[in-house]
Amino acid sequence: MASKMRAARDVTGHPISLAIAERKEYTKPLHCEFCDAQVSFVNGYTRTVGEDTIAVEPFFRLLKGHKHHNGCDYDIAGQIAIIARESEGDVIAALKGDKYELRLLAVKKALEQLHAAEQQKKELDPNKPVSTQEKRYAPGETRLGAYINSAKRVLKVRAVCEEHSEIEDFLTLAFDGVRIPWSNFYFEDDDYFRCHRQLSTSSTQIPVAIHGTVKVIKPISTQGGNFMMLELVRPMQNTDKADIRKVAIVSIWSHDARAFEGYQKGQQIIAFGMWAPKPQKEIENKKAGSPIKTFVNYEMRLWPVTRSQLCNA
Ligand SMILES: [Zn+2]
Repeated sequence: MASKMRAARDVTGHPISLAIAERKEYTKPLHCEFCDAQVSFVNGYTRTVGEDTIAVEPFFRLLKGHKHHNGCDYDIAGQIAIIARESEGDVIAALKGDKYELRLLAVKKALEQLHAAEQQKKELDPNKPVSTQEKRYAPGETRLGAYINSAKRVLKVRAVCEEHSEIEDFLTLAFDGVRIPWSNFYFEDDDYFRCHRQLSTSSTQIPVAIHGTVKVIKPISTQGGNFMMLELVRPMQNTDKADIRKVAIVSIWSHDARAFEGYQKGQQIIAFGMWAPKPQKEIENKKAGSPIKTFVNYEMRLWPVTRSQLCNA
């Protein structure tokens, strides 16, 4: 199975970095840096998402019909098995034939319990904001935090795959015994509108992971208090009216001033948890002379209870 790789080897075993490959200073065939599987180089490029241009980094990909060896760092089945082995409780369950299942209900419950614990702490000492960074976990919370961490590790594996199919053969998703397709759990920026629809129309809310590029990180002051907000690049869609465009707005919020330390504009991230959709809203475009007169905002927000709900990808 495939994943995006950052290095390869040539026939003589010489390491080939992405920079070397970009300068075409290598002879084919290339191999995985850890095993004999054959790989090829994929050039980087830029693509436009809404008003932003995003750089897609170059990478090495497995050649069709080739497989990483057991034990190779890029062997997805092996990586999932390691995460499952190191996971606590039943958040990842072993199924028949070396397959595993991530239990999203356990993830949701862990998030709810962490949230409840945080609320309780706030009530005990209302003058002290509970910093998600400096939070000391009680023993029960350590276990809950470990659940969230397992989910995060799984998402990082997904992020280096090109397709859902590369991970879903080894790790299926379940919520309360119901199978959830990966496409309803992990959303990239070409799919934010469908994510908004799912969040707005499902009777049962499941945790959802959103992958995207950081557009801005900034403090926000409102009557309700001071927050930090991280917003992802906004995909847009045309409508059947030439002067109306749809905009997907995905943002992550925190009371903690240091919540997004270490993250920066242009970075790829994944954030997962119980995303809250806002009803779609029409906004007048104030830019004079623009052919677009109205934007219809499709907004989704996440208030993480732990830093593990966010990671770079
Ligand atoms: Zn390999």
